[in-house]
This record gives sequence, structure tokens and C-alpha cells, in this order.
Amino acid sequence: MEEKVRESNFIHNIIDKDLENQKYGDKVYTRFPPEPNGYLHIGHAKSICLNFSTAAKYGGKCNLRYDDTNPVKEDVEYIDSIEADVRWLGFTWDERLWASNYFDTMYEAAVELIKQGKAYICDLTAEEIKEYRGTLTEPGKESPYRNRSIEENLAMFEDMKAGKYADGEKVLRAKIDMASPNINMRDPIIYRVAHATHHNTGDKWCIYPMYDFAHPIEDAIEGITHSICTLEFEDHRPLYDWVLENVGWWPAPPQQIEFARLNLTNTVMSKRYLKALVEDGVVDGWDDPRMPTIAGIRRRGYTPEAVRDFCERIGVAKANSTVDIGLLEHCVREDLKEKVESRNVVVNPIKVVITNYPEGQIEMLPTENNGNNEELGSREIPFGREIYVDGDDFMEEPVKKYFRLFPGNEVRLKAAYFITCNEVIKNEDGSIKELHCTYDPETKSGSGFTGRKVKGTIHFVEATTAVPIKIRQFDYLMVDGGEDGKMVANPDSLHEIDAFAEPLVADAKVGERFQFFRHGYYTPDSKLYSEDNKVFNEIVNLKSSWKPEK
Ligand code: ATP
Ligand code: MG
Repeated sequence: MEEKVRESNFIHNIIDKDLENQKYGDKVYTRFPPEPNGYLHIGHAKSICLNFSTAAKYGGKCNLRYDDTNPVKEDVEYIDSIEADVRWLGFTWDERLWASNYFDTMYEAAVELIKQGKAYICDLTAEEIKEYRGTLTEPGKESPYRNRSIEENLAMFEDMKAGKYADGEKVLRAKIDMASPNINMRDPIIYRVAHATHHNTGDKWCIYPMYDFAHPIEDAIEGITHSICTLEFEDHRPLYDWVLENVGWWPAPPQQIEFARLNLTNTVMSKRYLKALVEDGVVDGWDDPRMPTIAGIRRRGYTPEAVRDFCERIGVAKANSTVDIGLLEHCVREDLKEKVESRNVVVNPIKVVITNYPEGQIEMLPTENNGNNEELGSREIPFGREIYVDGDDFMEEPVKKYFRLFPGNEVRLKAAYFITCNEVIKNEDGSIKELHCTYDPETKSGSGFTGRKVKGTIHFVEATTAVPIKIRQFDYLMVDGGEDGKMVANPDSLHEIDAFAEPLVADAKVGERFQFFRHGYYTPDSKLYSEDNKVFNEIVNLKSSWKPEK
């Protein structure tokens, strides 16, 4: 399938200008910088699509860089998942890099600032630093340690590195402006002591750079030209620029550009919250099909094409907003509509006996695989004296405008014959045991029969060859109704239903997708599906609640 021509956005407009002015020559270099502390989610997908497709649009490069300057325990599990997710989305990084590989340069950069009198060691406690920082309306107060000599600062920084101080005892701060209206510029901490083993550098360091100091240096070292991040970093941009300008080692320093993060209705995207859902057993893992993680979306059966299409459609804006999750579902439907074959599956089955059909006879009837795409060809489905129809396709006492099966009514069985319901046979408890119908051999599908028309068409599964399967339907994991407009976990978001499928469904393999005719799109669950336990996940139903804006 051909991808649409990428539309421009405000970031591309900036890049166009930079290319015109040869700010970075002809270079466009971006990066996706995840912290390896959780699984990626649909919000990250937006950032991935933006960074990788921007590089691709301009013939540039995009790195995958792990932002691992924080020596908290990172997990190989997360690293593996991040790489699998980026690849699944269809992107390949130019280089895979670790921010922690730049610790030496970052240390040197800090020494450089000290030598220029632009950084100092501060002994204030974390609480005091907070107190001294001031507020949005009041300027901060200068630290009593602000005017230490360069020599003393250099010696102390070396002692910090040598492990002479405990966590929190001393920090290195940039000497900027305690009266700045931007609180981020009020002598921000750039290095702290943390006696922790780092997954990559082990025990080499007991001081670690802060994000706002490390990130611009990481970008500069890699020759990134456009450092794209989310809006909450907008107020940090002056510090980003300050670091690069004052360290001064890079003639064409990268520029930070912020865009609005993706928010979705019925969706929480904080890694911390998602982790809690996993740990509390609310879901069966990071890849639960109800999770907004890329792993969950993949297991659910969404396609990378649909996710990329979604990221393209929502565009890139400078103002925060919340996107209707219906749009994502719409993109999935659009992508699958012409791609997948259909199969007959009935739920809440009702048995139908065709009383005038020869006993023991089974005939194979051709039926199209996809009504929207002839190229997908046709298959044969069995038909016989006993079939199942969907519980929803029969009403003993029909409501108005009900054109499906009811006593006395005739309907078309898709790809088979017209049948008329003559009798409802009940169990002792009053429930329906089976329906007795007759068929009209003249009405065989494809025979060109034009004798009379019927209003309803339903589908069926032949009874003796029916394959029992389970289908899992999902409601949103998160619903409105919490305090302060917050969402809460939906206690009833998973429904497993028994169903009967046509015989071909027995051959379904993990990774395949189908339309279960008139029900929705389904895929075998990659974790639960087996020969004896044919569990299918609902990818998306057929009905769209989402309407394009007029
Ligand atoms: P979370 O808040 O969920 O833990 P994070 O921002 O801490 O996410 P990172 O691993 O630091 O996660 O994110 C990597 C990149 O993905 C960053 O550039 C970040 O801005 C971007 N990103 C994260 N969440 C979203 C989102 N909802 N929409 C767009 N981009 C996002
Ligand atoms: Mg982050």
C-alpha cells in the first residue's frame, strides 16, 4: 500500500527555513530518546513517527538513544521491547546509542562551566534549595555558596566524583540568574551525587548529570539538528540553549522544538500508571490487548500501517488537546477493510434445522472472501440440514423494522439459500431449542434467481463442521467518572464469549487477521491461542462511533 504524501507541519516549516539558511548545511538529524523504564505507548508512537518520518522526509538520519542518565534500575526487558516496538512500527534507526556513553564528555562540560565561573558547588540541602528558589511571583535568593572560587569548585567537583560526599550532600549548580522569571534558570542543579550502580557504567560514577544538562549535550554530541520533544519542556528550552552556548564546544548547536503530546479519550498513558495496572494484576501484562502500549496494540491486532496513519492524521500541533480514540479505531478499520478475508462466526448460536434438506448431505458453497476487494478471491463453506445462526438474527416476536429471522418470515442465508422459519421448538424451561425452517432450492446463491426479494440477509455456520472458538471483546480499560474529571479503571472491560466458526477458522494462525462477518475484526491471541483453546481478540468492531469533522 502506498503511503500518503506527508503533509507539512510547523516543525517541517522550521526545518525548511533552516535548510534555506543552511543553518546546519543540508543536514536534518533527529532522535527518539526513550528512558528505558517501561514499555512504549501510543503517545511514544506519535513521537517515533514524527522523528523518524521527519528524518526520512529530508533524507536525514534518526537515532534511537536511550536516555539512561538516571542510574535507576533499567531492565533488559524494556530495552528489548522498545526496539521491537520501533521496528514493528516500521522504522529503523541509524544508530542505537546510550546517553551514559557520554558521561565523560558531560563531566568535562561541567568542568568547563566551572572554569568559566558559570557553575558552583552548593551545600544547601534539597529543601533549602527549594526554599531559596522563590516562586513564580517572587525572585529566588542566592545561595551562600554561590561565590566559591573557581579553584575551590574544581577541587570539590573532583571530590564529588571521587566519592567523598554522600548522596545529597553537595550538588553542582549552573550560575545563571536567581531573579529570572523562568524558574528553570534560577541556578539549576546540573550534577548530583548518587551512589548507585548504573546498568552500563557500573560503579565508575557516583555523580550523575541532571536531564536538563545532559540532554542538550547528548544531542550536540550526536550532531542532532532538531531535538523534538513534548510541550512540557518548553520552559526548559532557555536552559537547553544556555548549556550549549556556555559550554561552547559546538558551532551549530541543535535546537529544541516542542510539540503537543498525544492525549486520547479513555486512555491513560503515564508509564507509572500503566506499570501499576500490570503489577496490580488489573491486566495480564504490559501487552494486554486493552493496554495503550505498542505491545498491547500489537497483540490486540492493530496494524503498524493503521497506527502510522493515525499519527499522520492527528498532525503535529503546538497546543495540547485530546484526540477521540474513535479516530484510532477508524484508522484500523480503514486499513483492514480491504486487506483481510472474512469468515463466518456465530455467537449465542441458535440451531436451525432445514427440514426439507436431505439428511446427511453437505454441499460446499462458494463465497467471496472480501466484499470490498475481489482480489482476495473466494472460498467454499459447507451447508447442510443443521446450521447455526446468530442469536441476534432471530426474534420470536420481532420489533418493528426487524427483517431477519422470525416465525413466518423468509431471509437470505448469505452464499446459500432463502429459508423460511416455520416453527420454534422450545426446551422444557421455555428457552429455544431449535428452529424448524424450510429452504427453497431455487434460490441458491449465484443461480441468478430473481423470483422474489427478501429484506434480510444473515449468515450461518454448518453444525456438524462448526469449530468452537472463544472470542474476547473489549470495552475501554479506562472510563470517566473519577474525582476531578479523572478516569478510573473499568471493572468490566473484558468479555469472553463462546462462538461457532466455519471450518477454515481451525487453520487460523497467530498474526493473521479476519473479519468475522457482521461482527468485527479478529485475530488469534498471541499468548492464549492454541489448538485446543482457540481464543480470538476483537481488534475493532465494525461500527464506527467516530465521525469525520464536517
Ligand atoms: P511517561 O510520562 O509516560 O513516563 P516519558 O515522557 O517519561 O513518558 P520517555 O521515555 O522519556 O517517556 O519518552 C520518550 C519520548 O517520547 C520523549 O521525547 C517524550 O517527549 C515522548 N513522549 C512521551 N509521551 C508522549 C505522548 N503522550 N505524546 C507524544 N510524545 C510522547
Ligand atoms: Mg521522560
